[in-house]
Amino acid sequence: MTENRFLQFTAPGIAGLKPYVPGKPVSELERELGIADAVKLASNENPLGAGDKARQVIESLTGELARYPDGGGYELRGALSEHHGLDPDCITLGNGSNDVLDLIARTFLAPGYEAVFSQHAFAVYPICTQAVGAVAKVASAHDGSRGPRFGHDLEAMMQLVGERTRVVFIANPNNPTGTWLSRDALQEFVGAIPGHVMVVIDEAYFEYVEEAGYPDASQWLSRYPNLIVTRTFSKAYGLAALRVGYGLSHPELAELLNRVRQPFNVNSMALAAACAALSDQAHIERSVAVNREGMAQLIEGFTALGLEYIPSAGNFLCVEVGETAAGIDAALQREGCIVRPVGNYGMPNHLRVTVGLAEENRRLLSALRGLLG
Ligand code: PMP
Repeated sequence: MTENRFLQFTAPGIAGLKPYVPGKPVSELERELGIADAVKLASNENPLGAGDKARQVIESLTGELARYPDGGGYELRGALSEHHGLDPDCITLGNGSNDVLDLIARTFLAPGYEAVFSQHAFAVYPICTQAVGAVAKVASAHDGSRGPRFGHDLEAMMQLVGERTRVVFIANPNNPTGTWLSRDALQEFVGAIPGHVMVVIDEAYFEYVEEAGYPDASQWLSRYPNLIVTRTFSKAYGLAALRVGYGLSHPELAELLNRVRQPFNVNSMALAAACAALSDQAHIERSVAVNREGMAQLIEGFTALGLEYIPSAGNFLCVEVGETAAGIDAALQREGCIVRPVGNYGMPNHLRVTVGLAEENRRLLSALRGLLG
């Protein structure tokens, strides 16, 4: 495209902004290839889909389409309050947790302020930082000598925190690396962060994590008033299409985020389905079990192919396929398998694979074997 004629009029930061690259939709690949059975392991969704309770409540709501949603999300905030043992005033609802991350950036960042996050961290942190004209301070990730390779280096992050820092973003576990931080290390970090800096701990994959020593940062909220924990219904709860996530924080922080929040940012179906999903913990248990088995299947398959992968606490794995990763990605698509290239995360030799159902994982592994074996 030729230079955009309106670029000169944009707010600070917008000119250098690169849009988020989403996973390719199944429908798009199927249209391109003229096939009907493409497998999508590219966006860390729950391969079981939504639970029955959430599906039923959505069907029952089609008569309500002309009414605005409850802008305060009374019922969902009530249900979340009970689930987390926190006051409803601690909860900020978002159109996906991305919306909450964006609210945090718009509330605390602006030209002249800085956000700190790690190399290879979730792509929305640089986008929402730059979109408001703030400066991103990116800490090098671990090289493997003092912590898991590709993982967040909390010491390096702390060194970037200064007078102008207003937000630190930490993904635990991180996407796309799957690396995670232990309770002791993370709590020590949060405790050492000065009060003028908001610490965001993004727990989008919380429900999937089974690793011992993995912390639930929401339990620290009473101790650290500058902490914001984000969660989502897009992953283990299987509601990615509806867009609903939330922030947990001190009520005074939530009150500020709610000033910036668009009215009705979470739609009625999302509100109702999230309530139903929250009450369906059996679906979470099934989903975690499917993930555990699928993760083992993928690890076994990658190992048999001699491929290295980054150990992951989430529902996805980054596998190292070498310099031809882009070509392998394209070839996998021709086989009807969509995975996620992560060159834009500074990992050009890896592909990120979401853990799917056994048959989906088998399809991917057999396509990979055909290309590499
Ligand atoms: N945080 C992380 C680490 C993620 O991987 C994602 C999804 N890709 C999100 C937040 C945002 O998810 P959503 O907006 O669907 O809640």
